[in-house]
Amino acid sequence: MLLSKPRLIRGGVRTETHKQPTAACPLEPLHPPGPLYVSLSQHIGAPALPAVRPGDTVAKGQRLGTPEQGLSAAVHAPTSGRVAAITRHPAPHPSGLAVTTVVLEPDGEERWADERPEPLTEEAERLEPATISHRAAEAGIVGMGGAAFPAAVKLNSPRPVDTLILNGGECEPYLTCDDRLMRERAAGIVDGGRLMARALGARRTAIGVEDNKPEAIHALRQAAASLGGAEVVPVPSLWPQGSEKHLIYTLTGREVPAGALAADIGVVAHNVGTAYAVHRAVRQGRPLISRPVTIGGGAVATPTNLEAPLGTPFRTLLHQAGGLRETPARVLAGGPMMGPIVPLEAALAKGTNGVIALTRSEIREAEGRPCIRCGRCVDACPMGLMPFEIANRAAAGDIDGAAASGLMDCLTCGSCAYVCPSARPLVQLFHYARGQRAERAAAKERTELQRRMAEQRAERQRREQERKKAAAAARRRQRAAHAQGGAEQAQGGAEAEPQDTGAEGSPPDAAPSGEETVS
Ligand code: SF4
Ligand code: SF4
Repeated sequence: MLLSKPRLIRGGVRTETHKQPTAACPLEPLHPPGPLYVSLSQHIGAPALPAVRPGDTVAKGQRLGTPEQGLSAAVHAPTSGRVAAITRHPAPHPSGLAVTTVVLEPDGEERWADERPEPLTEEAERLEPATISHRAAEAGIVGMGGAAFPAAVKLNSPRPVDTLILNGGECEPYLTCDDRLMRERAAGIVDGGRLMARALGARRTAIGVEDNKPEAIHALRQAAASLGGAEVVPVPSLWPQGSEKHLIYTLTGREVPAGALAADIGVVAHNVGTAYAVHRAVRQGRPLISRPVTIGGGAVATPTNLEAPLGTPFRTLLHQAGGLRETPARVLAGGPMMGPIVPLEAALAKGTNGVIALTRSEIREAEGRPCIRCGRCVDACPMGLMPFEIANRAAAGDIDGAAASGLMDCLTCGSCAYVCPSARPLVQLFHYARGQRAERAAAKERTELQRRMAEQRAERQRREQERKKAAAAARRRQRAAHAQGGAEQAQGGAEAEPQDTGAEGSPPDAAPSGEETVS
């Protein structure tokens, strides 16, 4: 059930929004002339397997990558052209690691693949739930709010789901591409929500939108009034209101327990962009090959919103926004609260909602002054943690202590760092501690694997020794049996021919007569 009045989350911060420079910029379609760097790892889970080879000619929408077994997602050609290479290329990810990437030279023809799925025009309620989730999987749709979790897996929830929530929070500063999508394509979002609710068997759909987006709320309400199926609920503008757990709490009053999934409490949440992608996949047979993205930050000449093909290099996106006015202090994939720092060579991925180039005056370098125990980080933490405590333990190398203080419940939302008067590098310390913990877990797993392998080797050696012993015993018994047989034959021959007395005696280890031999 939805609450009659949205519930306020605990903690959180009111950040400067910096949305004004792009909020009025419509989503402009982009057709970049240069190569596209289409990563095969744009999602959580195993990378897709290459489905093309260098030199292949591909059509728009053709598969470039086939999903691996288990958690994975398909990848498609954003335009027609030629596969120039399959190589390693930097990904817009905090790790900064290079991933397998298809380099596609566009031919400018935008020629669609012939085998594109048929558009399905029936009402959502007349479609089979499995048809909808299958379409989402075929289209390679993943969570477009940044999480990049394969959408079809969430739509195939093994647990009963009564409520679908569409997340139109977009509470990260600078980002406005979801706001533009909601204003410009509200009907598609509402239809996508109806399709998703049908796939999940959810009886209710709520679209949560921050109350600083009145045009988006109006457009969605109009679409919902004509299509039906969703309630549009304004929620307070507060960071991190758009986190899945907090939006669910605000709209339903239900809390997702630590370590559990939203589906465990009967709720599934998807970003509004994901709903729109599902609408396109079902109604137009279109795979996920482009996405809305905000190009902003003080270092950008003319900040804007684009609908850009996946694989467009960040450098090209910034060029499209008039280029850089000054050398940026940092470039982020996403907003300044949670977006990772990325190189300009990285390219647009399914989960990238912004490319934000910040000037030195727009960033607050962590200075690491001593904690003054003011408690502001505790007040700001939406998870009810004591950030200074986790950070102190992490800084002291007490990773288990940091974990016991709630390290793994932390959203790394940055609210604590935002309010800290000592500019302590709280989030960096949390990332460091998590990295250490993951490394330890991996080392423990390696040690366990080595122990198991050593045990298996010892077991193999023991069996081999036993086999050799058994074979040697068998050979001895066989020799004894032969010798016994020879002696009896000789004795028989002597009885028949008493004049022949040349029979040899039995060997000392001859088996008793009648003993079973092993051949
Ligand atoms: S401790 Fe984690 S969840 Fe709490 S405010 Fe800091 S970053 Fe956010
Ligand atoms: S806000 Fe900063 S200075 Fe204040 S208690 Fe937290 S870590 Fe310490």
